[in-house]
Amino acid sequence: MGFKCCVSGCTSTSAKVSMHSFPIKDAELCRLWLKRINNHSLPDDIQQLKSYRVCTIHFDSSCKRDSKTHPLIWNSIPSLNLPDFNESTSENCFLIYSQRRVQYGILNTEDGKPFKL
Ligand SMILES: [Zn+2]
Repeated sequence: MGFKCCVSGCTSTSAKVSMHSFPIKDAELCRLWLKRINNHSLPDDIQQLKSYRVCTIHFDSSCKRDSKTHPLIWNSIPSLNLPDFNESTSENCFLIYSQRRVQYGILNTEDGKPFKL
């Protein structure tokens, strides 16, 4: 069975590129993925996200690991080739738990710079 990437406008399929599952064990991380992907046809219920995939072109190279079972670093978030967001930096492609303060879509980093979601 093949998968199609759930990012709006992305035509990738699992036959062509690798696909990543939603981090359904971590609700907050899933919410950030949903916010970045911004596809309103996706389910709100995190458990239902099990059947959706995000293709590899939406992740910064710093998120990827050489592993077949866990090809993404656990706190990665999509940051590339998204309909409303395409400014990957080393700061905005990970959820940084020790510093998280999510308010109005802005997560502040330690040095006070806003971290655009
Ligand atoms: Zn895609």
